[in-house]
Amino acid sequence: MSDQNFDVVILGGGSGGYAAALRAVQLGFTVGLIEKNKLGGTCLHVGCIPTKALLHAAEVADVARDSAKFGVKATFEGVDIAAVTAYRQEVVTSKFKGLTGLVKMRGITVIQGEGKLVSPTTVEVAGDRIIGKNVILATGSYSRSLPGLELGGRVITSEQALELDFVPKKVAVLGGGVIGVEFSSVWKSWGADVTIIEALPHLVPNEDESVSKQFERAYRKRGINFKLGVRFQSVTQDAHGVVVTLENGETIEAELLLVAVGRGAATAGIGLEEVGVKTDRGFVLTNERLATNIPGVYAVGDIVPGLQLAHRGFQQGVFVAEEIAGLNPIVIEDANIPKVTYSDPEVASIGLSEAKAREVHGNDNVSTYDLSLAGNGKSHILGTSGSVKVVRVNDGPVVGVHMIGARVGELIGEAQLAVNWEAYPEDIAPLLHAHPTQNEALGEAFLALAGKPLHAV
Ligand SMILES: Cc1cc2nc3c(=O)[nH]c(=O)nc-3n(C[C@H](O)[C@H](O)[C@H](O)COP(=O)(O)OP(=O)(O)OC[C@H]3O[C@@H](n4cnc5c(N)ncnc54)[C@H](O)[C@@H]3O)c2cc1C
Repeated sequence: MSDQNFDVVILGGGSGGYAAALRAVQLGFTVGLIEKNKLGGTCLHVGCIPTKALLHAAEVADVARDSAKFGVKATFEGVDIAAVTAYRQEVVTSKFKGLTGLVKMRGITVIQGEGKLVSPTTVEVAGDRIIGKNVILATGSYSRSLPGLELGGRVITSEQALELDFVPKKVAVLGGGVIGVEFSSVWKSWGADVTIIEALPHLVPNEDESVSKQFERAYRKRGINFKLGVRFQSVTQDAHGVVVTLENGETIEAELLLVAVGRGAATAGIGLEEVGVKTDRGFVLTNERLATNIPGVYAVGDIVPGLQLAHRGFQQGVFVAEEIAGLNPIVIEDANIPKVTYSDPEVASIGLSEAKAREVHGNDNVSTYDLSLAGNGKSHILGTSGSVKVVRVNDGPVVGVHMIGARVGELIGEAQLAVNWEAYPEDIAPLLHAHPTQNEALGEAFLALAGKPLHAV
């Protein structure tokens, strides 16, 4: 049993925790970073990175299948899942090595083991006391289920979905949010018959309704089945498959059921109750500056209620390190965090939906421009359809951008600058967008809202 003292102690080495650690040492603090599993957390090992590798392999399958459309002779013979796994693991391992090296090089002390908060300044790991002037909680999240829905066997979460060593022939997916539609996209591209069950009226229900509707059209066109506005009732499984029963009495037979109904906060047993840190259903309650009710104890990432995204975790980690250093960093509201759904098609958005903007700024005080990608040269070359919708306050800034189509995730950078810098379309209108890019569609939508469309009508 020993004591180790640091300026900042961080519990959890995922996106939020390691970003806090990197920024804190940069600011001259000593940092102890406690991790029970692997640095990089969910995002690197079982989230963002491995799923995007699968999506890329899915895109390659689609390109091979559709190659004749572009005059190239190729045949799609199937998916070698062992090779896909090797590719996915190679990407993750390489990024993990890079991160481990970076953390070491920066002089962060990594303490391997499971930590528990035992006082506002102390985390205990295997009997050792890791003491910090400030403590940052960053223990992340886990795949949730529904009451009465038992996980196991053929009822799987995203973690097991990633590890499958076969391509299922028929899958049911519970949840039409980001994780559900991403896996559906991959499996469909690899030849599976997919049915999504979503209790809300739309797929990707957190997006602007116009985007959700286009997304549904695109999925319908791809032959991905979905049941909307209907609740799951029960599931049974045997050696051959699952039978999912919905509340309307309908049943769906499949080989597997992927449960993608959201993620809970991984805070059980980490000492929050004992130390008096306030929580709500496991999530750590903080003020907008990410301070908990216990002085000196902060929380970042998926355990803080709101969007569960890696870049939100990074930003919050950096924010708290700067807050501790007294740099008074700016608060980014959740609405102004960019969101990308990586599937075919992609969805990318930031800021207020049209409906929310009208609610916040007044129905008559908001204008929108919804530009179809049909007129965009690069989108035509890629063979994608979709749209870019920009929402502005009249005589005011851009408050929302909502996009759908292949590769639109790459356009979110400019959109988030426009929204977070509170740019007026008139500010952006004189600036150039390279030709031919999909980025031009965004430029054209800004031009249109500034009253001077070039190609759009
Ligand atoms: C399938 C999937 C796909 C995703 N895709 C994307 C995407 O494309 N883009 C995106 O932005 N986000 C994506 N996410 C979300 C993203 O992974 C999370 O938002 C992000 O990982 C949250 O970071 P975090 O630091 O809060 O938690 P985590 O990354 O979960 O890290 C928490 C860390 O804390 C450690 N820990 C927990 N308890 C203890 C303890 N008691 N002692 C020591 N260590 C502990 C854990 O081992 C873990 O390493 C995806 C998630 C999933 C599941």
